[in-house]
Amino acid sequence: MVKANYVPKRLVRVEEEAFKIIWDDGHESVYPAQHLRFQCPCAACKDEWTGESKLDFKTLPQDLQLKDARLVGNYAVNYLFSDGHSTGIYSFETLRKICPCCIKTVP
Ligand SMILES: [Zn+2]
Ligand SMILES: [Zn+2]
Repeated sequence: MVKANYVPKRLVRVEEEAFKIIWDDGHESVYPAQHLRFQCPCAACKDEWTGESKLDFKTLPQDLQLKDARLVGNYAVNYLFSDGHSTGIYSFETLRKICPCCIKTVP
């Protein structure tokens, strides 16, 4: 049976440039700051029609860091980036979907 909703068991700060989530099914996702920033789901970063990022990955700061991460209710994580951007609310569903090691297998 495929679970509909994955829930992070632990949020771990790996280093300034990366953040790890250990999920309740044991899967571990490591998100580089640039990856999270590029996938930011807020209205300013994501095209609401196509669902594609409006950002140019190449123009993101090379030394982008994650300053903070906090849980929003029990369904999402809000990240604060070193470029000052903090309006993205990443639902657990989104985070699992953009897991760097899984994203390639999702059509
Ligand atoms: Zn954004
Ligand atoms: Zn994965």
